[in-house]
Amino acid sequence: MRRGFKTEAERLAERQRAQLGLRPTDPLKIIDLAKSLGVEVYSASELVGRAALEKLEGLQPGAFSAATFHLPDGRTVMVYNPLNEPGRTNSDIAHELAHVLLDHRLRELQKIGGHTFFACDPEQEEEANWLAGCLLLPRPLLLREAYSGADAEKIAERYQVSAPMARFRLNASGVTLQVRRSSRSRA
Ligand SMILES: [Zn+2]
Repeated sequence: MRRGFKTEAERLAERQRAQLGLRPTDPLKIIDLAKSLGVEVYSASELVGRAALEKLEGLQPGAFSAATFHLPDGRTVMVYNPLNEPGRTNSDIAHELAHVLLDHRLRELQKIGGHTFFACDPEQEEEANWLAGCLLLPRPLLLREAYSGADAEKIAERYQVSAPMARFRLNASGVTLQVRRSSRSRA
């Protein structure tokens, strides 16, 4: 990740959340952010039907989480996989919105089982993951939860994000370390 990106991402997330009237410790409803960015969000079952999705999942488990399409008429449309858990879906949509916020353009086309998919380059993926985490789980919120004893699973459940995202954020934000240090100094 390029130098300074992590700090920029925290600030960008903070600004986006503030525009929605959220305090740093408030949960974010990802669909509200999509609306404010003018992104239309659809379940893939509305477009291709559930049977097609189940078939795809059988061919390549986990192949499809969410994708964003920039339509020629200027609309931005996002499609997510309704077969996934809600927490995973929120994290996936946040990841896609992060690409939109960072103005990432899709570069690669992948074909899996006769279906065409878009993939981004690894650098952009890393940036989108990082920003998605900042949007859903800002540092002040994580600190408050960690001090009250919540672990990654609890946080994932409470804020409806995927457990891997909660775990990643607790570690990457330095919150786990900070809480561990301060509990040692109190002991
Ligand atoms: Zn991506």
